[in-house]
Amino acid sequence: MSYHANEKGYYGEFGGAYIPEMLYPNCEELRQNYLQIMQEPSFQEEFHHLLKDYVGRPTPLYFAERLSKKYNTKIYLKREDLCHTGAHKVNNTIGQILMAKKLGKNRIIAETGAGQHGVATATVCALMGIECVVYMGEIDIARQAPNVARMKMLGAEVRPATSGSKTLKDATNEAIRDWINNPVDTHYIIGSVVGPHPYPDMVARFQSVISEEIKSQLLEKESRENPDYVVACVGGGSNAAGAFYHFLDTPEVGIIAVEAAGKGIHSGESAATSALGKVGIIHGSKTLLMQTSDGQITEPYSISAGLDYPGVGPMHAHLYTSGRGEFISITDDDAMQAGLELCKLEGIIPAIETSHALAIFEDRKFNENDIVVVNLSGRGDKDLQNYIDYFKL
Ligand SMILES: *Cc1c(COP(=O)(O)O)cnc(C)c1O
Repeated sequence: MSYHANEKGYYGEFGGAYIPEMLYPNCEELRQNYLQIMQEPSFQEEFHHLLKDYVGRPTPLYFAERLSKKYNTKIYLKREDLCHTGAHKVNNTIGQILMAKKLGKNRIIAETGAGQHGVATATVCALMGIECVVYMGEIDIARQAPNVARMKMLGAEVRPATSGSKTLKDATNEAIRDWINNPVDTHYIIGSVVGPHPYPDMVARFQSVISEEIKSQLLEKESRENPDYVVACVGGGSNAAGAFYHFLDTPEVGIIAVEAAGKGIHSGESAATSALGKVGIIHGSKTLLMQTSDGQITEPYSISAGLDYPGVGPMHAHLYTSGRGEFISITDDDAMQAGLELCKLEGIIPAIETSHALAIFEDRKFNENDIVVVNLSGRGDKDLQNYIDYFKL
C-alpha cells in the first residue's frame, strides 16, 4: 500500500475534489498541469534557487544535546523556524507563485486565519511583483493586527469577510467566490495540505524538501538516512506532510502526528481532529473533520492559532485510519510548558504550534539509541504576547 495520493487525489478513501461545478475549470487546469510543470527543469531550477538564496535552505538539522539528555533519547530538530518569515509556510508559497507564473496568472488570492499564510503569500507576491488579495475574517483582522500590518507593508490588499462567524471558513468562502469570478487571470494559493485535488498533493510535494534534507543530513551525521521516528504538529498538516513525505513508504520509520487537544479532548474546546472527527467533506476534500451529529462543522479551539482548524488534510486522515501514523494530542498547558522548556534547554523560542510536538516527550518514551527527528515548524516571535500572558512574564 502506498501512502501517497493516487492520480485522482485519493489517499485511501480520503481526498478527491468535491467542488461546485463553477470551480471545475480552475481546478482542472491546475490538475492537468501541475505535475508536468513541477518536473520542468526551469521550474526546478528557479524553485531551488529561491529556496536556497531567498528562504535560506537547507535549514539545519540540529542535535539537541540537552533536550536529548533530559529524555534519554537522541533528538534532532529540523530548523524550519530559520526559514525567511519564520516558518515552513514559505516553502509552499514560493512553489505556488512559480506555478502561477507558469500558468500565466497575474493575480493571487489567498485566505488566512491567524495571518501567517497571508504573510507568506504577500511575501512571495512582493518578490514577484504580482497583485495580491488576502481574504480574512473581520474578527481575525481585529485579533491579528501585527500580521494585518505585515501584509499591508508587503503590498497586499486585506479584504474583510463579514459573513457568518467572520473567521477562517468565511474568508475561505469569499476566496472561492473570487476565484469563480476570475477563472482566467487568478491563482488561489491554499496554505496547507487541504482543499480539493490537486492541492494536498501539490503542497505536500513543495514541502517535501524538508524530508529530502533530513535524509541527506542524517546520512552525514549518523551514517544512516532514516530516523527511527519523525514527529510533527498537525493543523491542516503541511509541515507534517513535508517532514513525513520521503518516509511514508518506509515502514521502519515511525510517524508521529501531534494535534492540539486544547483544554482537553472532551472539554468541548479542542482541535484534536483524529480523536474527535468523523468522515465528511470540508473545503472540497473528503477527510476527517469535527462536526455535530447533523453534519455541521464544529468550531475548533486551540491556544495556537495555526492548529485551530476543524479538519485535517486527507493524507493525515489516511495515516490515522490505516494505522501508519501514531496520533497524539497535547493540551494547551502541556504545549506551553514544553515551549518554555525548549527555551531554557536549547536557547530556541518555538512557535506554540511546534511546542505541541515537543510536548510528547513527557509521556511518550523512546529507547536510548532511537533517533527522533522533530520538525521545528516555526519560531515563537509571533507568539510572544501569548507566552507573556500565559506565564505572566
Ligand atoms: C501554520 C503553522 C502550522 C500549522 O500548519 P500545518 O499546515 O499543519 O503545518 C504549524 N506550525 C507553524 C509554525 C505554523 O505557522
